[in-house]
Amino acid sequence: MRIGYGWDSHEFKPGILLKIGGVELPHTHGLAGHSDGDVLLHAITDALLGAVAAGDIGSYFPPTDLKWKGADSVIFLEEALKQVQLAGYTVSNVDSTLILAEPKIVPHAKKIQARVAELLGIKPNQVGIKAKTPEGMGTDNAAIAHVAVLLECIQEKSSAKTRAGKKLSNTTKKQKSIKRRARK
Ligand code: MG
Repeated sequence: MRIGYGWDSHEFKPGILLKIGGVELPHTHGLAGHSDGDVLLHAITDALLGAVAAGDIGSYFPPTDLKWKGADSVIFLEEALKQVQLAGYTVSNVDSTLILAEPKIVPHAKKIQARVAELLGIKPNQVGIKAKTPEGMGTDNAAIAHVAVLLECIQEKSSAKTRAGKKLSNTTKKQKSIKRRARK
């Protein structure tokens, strides 16, 4: 098992499309950044890379590289997933907390949860999406994301399945022998 943690923040600016967790949200402002400013996908990307000690988002996609200007953050997430796979791990679950004054996330949480799950190849019930307002923090002009991920070793996972299968077949054998004895 591996645990990872990621954090990111972006500033709200008018005239930009707001994207959080790969979902476009209706709002007067969007998140400014070198890429599409998707604060949640950036934090997830860093959490995944951190979990397998494979650097951070900036080491793969430097903001100084014009190639990534306005880039879809899904590209960053896909690279992190590739690194997770190369290290022999699979995503077990993700938990996140967004901190922003506006817009309210609750009406969009299910959609964000479904999209993040789809991008990570896991089920929606393996993705936690929580949101808070920045009360007293003075960060009303920014969106912040905190993310924790848990990874499972692919080998451990498959041997656990084999063990579970053996256990089940042993139980079936026992049940059959009990039945046989009962018939005698
Ligand atoms: Mg960022």
